[in-house]
Formats: sequence, structure tokens, C-alpha cells
Amino acid sequence: MQKPIYLDNNATTPCAPEVVDAMLPYFTQQCGNPSSIHSLGLQAQLAVTKARESMASFLGCDSSEIFFTSGATESNNQVLLTCPSADERRRGIIVSAVEHKSVLVPAQALSELGIAVQKLPVDAGGRVLLESLKDIVNESIYLVSVQAANNEVGTLQPIQEIAEYAHSQGVLVHCDATQLLGRKSFDLYELGVDYASFSAHKVYGPKGVGALFVRQGNPRRNLSPLLRGGGQEAFLRAGTLNVPGIVGFAAACSVAQNRIAPDTLKLTQLRDHLEKTMLESIAEATVNGDLINRLPGTTSITIPGVQAETLIANIPNICISGGSACSEGTVSPSHVLIAMGLSRERAECTVRIGIGRYNSQTEIDLACTSLVAVVEKLRNASGESCENEERKTQ
Ligand code: PMP
Repeated sequence: MQKPIYLDNNATTPCAPEVVDAMLPYFTQQCGNPSSIHSLGLQAQLAVTKARESMASFLGCDSSEIFFTSGATESNNQVLLTCPSADERRRGIIVSAVEHKSVLVPAQALSELGIAVQKLPVDAGGRVLLESLKDIVNESIYLVSVQAANNEVGTLQPIQEIAEYAHSQGVLVHCDATQLLGRKSFDLYELGVDYASFSAHKVYGPKGVGALFVRQGNPRRNLSPLLRGGGQEAFLRAGTLNVPGIVGFAAACSVAQNRIAPDTLKLTQLRDHLEKTMLESIAEATVNGDLINRLPGTTSITIPGVQAETLIANIPNICISGGSACSEGTVSPSHVLIAMGLSRERAECTVRIGIGRYNSQTEIDLACTSLVAVVEKLRNASGESCENEERKTQ
């Protein structure tokens, strides 16, 4: 069987070989629990300390501001569900309409508890407009949560401006930076946010480990634990630390630090080539998202008349995603595309292609050839079935 071409790097990335090498000893010889006081425990603790320090230097913060979690879902839940309100009057939060479900669903849970949740709209490119934020921020808001980069269309948000304005109004800022990490250089202090969420598996690290940045210096930002029953992570997050995962996460960030510039160049070239080929070869295909403020390797393409699910089922060797999410057994069109103004029909005919560090030009060419051929076949087939329907009704 032909090796699948993996083009779903926004869903997850393969582990970098350097990451696997760094992790391996911590599964076997270096098996200690960092809470144990014997030699192997202390060695594990040292590995976690070094990982925390190296990640903090990559992210531009202090190591005491990094808390390890099980992933960005947990980090997002931690902030949304335990961020304190400054005072009695501040009983509302704002989340952008294109957030990941791990922000939107906890926000929904808060609204069921009586917290007023407002959705910040986006423009046709999926970008938040500062003016829209200014329209809805007032003295009843305590938190605003806006992602750095979108996982479906790759649009980047003006986080620095959002943070500056929110702070001028006494509002704390959370940023889900899961898709930004390793794909664009940034500095947490420059971004100016109070909280930021990260995940290792989007940056060529292992699955099941993430981080939460909590800016120190203002006791108002202190979160309360979601998981209790241990003193780990300064009592914010109980549970034995995932030492191999944490070591792997830090190794992935170190690799990314040296590779952001060459990776960006390569991914931008591959993505531009893919988009050009697809738009030239497929009638009426369009690219979604902000074409200026965007991640380098991500593209979202609408192909009218071809359901993403059907397309994906017909190209088993090309791993891409659809513009819809399956939850509780029902398929609903992507809330991101709908918030950007796409119709349900167009959203259902949208695929996301996430190019990654290890993809080659040959793979992109092969994927384009297959996609174009399958789109043509499906369109011809649906044309024929329409003609048959017409004949039957004549
Ligand atoms: N936020 C964003 C923007 C994401 O893309 C993802 C992963 N799809 C998450 C949060 C959740 O991350 P994790 O898989 O680490 O829980």
C-alpha cells in the first residue's frame, strides 16, 4: 500500500526525531517520580526544571510562570473555569466566535452558572476587529479570551492590541496560542497577555502534554486548581508530572527555536504552490481566511459541489481535514467558517490542508494531482446523477 501523505499538521504533528531521542531515557532508566526524594526522583525533578527553564526562555517569560498540563484543552479549561473576577460588578467574559471548542464549551458552562458570555464577531477573513471589542468591553467584564491563530483557517489575531485595550479597561486577557507555538516567533511579555495555553503535539512534540502561562506580579491573576490532591505545579495542578512528555515538549520547542525561519520559508512556498495549483485546476475553488495575517502552512479551501467528507473518503492516501466537526454523532458545519459568513453548504464543501515541516514538494504535487482528479470525478458523477434525476422527472 502507498504510504499516506500526511497533510493534517494543524490537527497534530509527528514527533521530531530529536524529541523522541530526548524522551526515551525518561521511559526506562530515568524512571523517577519528580516528587520522590531519592536520586532518580531528583534527576527527574532536575529534568523538569531544565525543561521549564528552556521553555520559559523560548516563550519570553519566567520559569515560575509556566505550569505543565495535559494539553491545551486543559489549559483553556483551567483559565476559563477558574479565572477570578476582580470584583462583584465584573460578572461577564468575552470570547471570540472562532475559538476552539475547549474555550467555547467551558464558556458555555459558565453562562449556565450565570456568567454573561459575549461572543466577539470576526470579519470575513476570521479576524477580530478591535473596534468590535471596544463596542462590547465595559466595567462588567473581567476576562477576554482570543486565540493567537486559528486551527481551521490559520488567521492570526491582533493579540497585542487586544491585550493593550483590555488592560486599559481593567480586563484580564487569555490567549489560546496552541497554533502559534513554533510557527511564528513571539514573546509573551510583548504579546502582553495574562494567560496563554500551549500544546506539545502541535509543535512536533508528544501528545498529552501542554502548558499554561500565568503572568506573575498581580495576585488578581491567581487561578484556583481544577485538579486537587497533590502539591505539584505550585498546587495549581495536582498529579504526577508527565516527565517524558515535559522533556519532549521542551526539546520540541528548542528544535522549533532554531527552525522557525527556514520552516516558515518552506511552508509558505509549499502552501502558495498548493493554493495556486488548486485554484487554477478546480473551477470556483476559493481560499478562506485572512490572506495577509495567516500561519504559513495552513490553507482552507472551499470546493463548491464537493462535500469535504466525500472528498476525504475518496482519497484515502491523503490525510486532510473537513470543515465540519463531528460531535455527539451529528455532523455540524464548522462554527469558524460560519462565523466568517460562509453558508452551511460552502462550509460543508471546505477542506483544511495543514502542511508541516516534514512535507516535501513531491508530496504536495502528488496530493494536488489526486485532489484535482478526485474533485473532477465527483463533480462529473454528481453532474451525471443530476442529469439522471432530470431525465426521471421529465
Ligand atoms: N486550541 C487550539 C487552537 C487547537 O488547535 C487545539 C487542538 N486541536 C486545542 C486547543 C486543544 O489542544 P489539545 O489537543 O492539546 O488538548
